[in-house]
Amino acid sequence: MSGALDDTHEPALQSWVESANADETDFPIQNLPFGRFRTAGSRSWRVGVAIGDAVLDLQRAGVVKNAGMKQVMGLAPAQRVALRHRISEGLRSGSANEARFREALLPQSQLTMGLPCEIGDYTDFYVGIHHATAVGKLFRPDNPLLPNYKWVPIGYHGRASTVNVSGTDFPRPSGQQRGADDSRPVFGPSQRIDLELELGIFIGRPSTQGSPIPIEHAEEHVFGLALFNDWSARDLQAWEYQPLGPFLAKNFASTVSPWIVTMEALAPFRRPFVRSAGEPEPMPYLDSRANREHGAFDIGLEVWLQTAEMRAAGSPGQRLSRSNFADAAYWSVAQLVAHHTVNGCDLRSGDLLGSGTLSGPLTDQAGSLLELSQGGKQALTLANGEQRTFLLDGDAIILRGHCERQGARRIGFGECRATLLPARDPG
Ligand code: CA
Repeated sequence: MSGALDDTHEPALQSWVESANADETDFPIQNLPFGRFRTAGSRSWRVGVAIGDAVLDLQRAGVVKNAGMKQVMGLAPAQRVALRHRISEGLRSGSANEARFREALLPQSQLTMGLPCEIGDYTDFYVGIHHATAVGKLFRPDNPLLPNYKWVPIGYHGRASTVNVSGTDFPRPSGQQRGADDSRPVFGPSQRIDLELELGIFIGRPSTQGSPIPIEHAEEHVFGLALFNDWSARDLQAWEYQPLGPFLAKNFASTVSPWIVTMEALAPFRRPFVRSAGEPEPMPYLDSRANREHGAFDIGLEVWLQTAEMRAAGSPGQRLSRSNFADAAYWSVAQLVAHHTVNGCDLRSGDLLGSGTLSGPLTDQAGSLLELSQGGKQALTLANGEQRTFLLDGDAIILRGHCERQGARRIGFGECRATLLPARDPG
């Protein structure tokens, strides 16, 4: 596992890019997340690293040669660490390479960010045990968690074509729905659009079909994490989900943040992965000493809502909830990779695994409106007096994430934002 700390994590490290030294930046020199950008008038994506309010063009800086994001993501762990060192050294105060790197530096505000990579297959897991329990309770009050939950990391195959980068707005989807008292389904715009606060796990090094990835090597195949909003149409979902699981309720849009925070950058924020007393031990293929000792990640997560009214009033929005990956997840990143491949299924560079909704144990730590509104029964009253059960047209959801720990430099994920637009006229 990429657990080793080195001089790139040194909290006192400063950059000659002044904005990277500001306390509140998500992108200090200890972070160095990867994304794809293009400049005005250009059609091709370039690979960059965020530093303060700027982006370093890796090819212009001479640290990669003609490499697309997939090549960078596919590097072996030792090569990834070496690349991180080259970038860190060039951006440090007093670097001998400052002049060359300065020529490769672009202001983020002038760039268009794309998806961090071309996304291959997309799988969505369900690791948030508090979410699974709360949602299960709405449908099965006596038996909220199904018996497989604590043995199998539950997941389904999603759709990559509708994964959008942050900032891509989308129309309210239409579909079939049937109310509890209706004898027949009706067709129309969904009335129950929800968000799901998730992390996206990006696969770096590919694996081979027929060869399961042992849990001890699972993280070598993970490039890093990003924020992920798995938008959901709850009314479509309730009608269609049995017997094969979610389909059109989930694949109309998902939003991912533009920056992948690497496993190396997350090293200072690892935590032991522990199960409470009385919980079943994971099966041997889902268990390792490294996973137990530092398989969890301490990542603070926040959901913000900015309604059209708030936007018109110049308000940045209101925080709806906050949670933490380590407290929310019943399964670790390494366990998901080991489980996904245990039957011989291979993973490829650029594949995306959604974590599932990362709700905390308390009601105000829920990562979906389904939970916050108790299945739509209890409207939330917002600070400006507006009320919400599910989302209205013009509502923007913004996800944020950051890692903070004594003795480490705080790093962040940037933001994952999109606005729900009115349904398109089906005519
Ligand atoms: Ca989901």
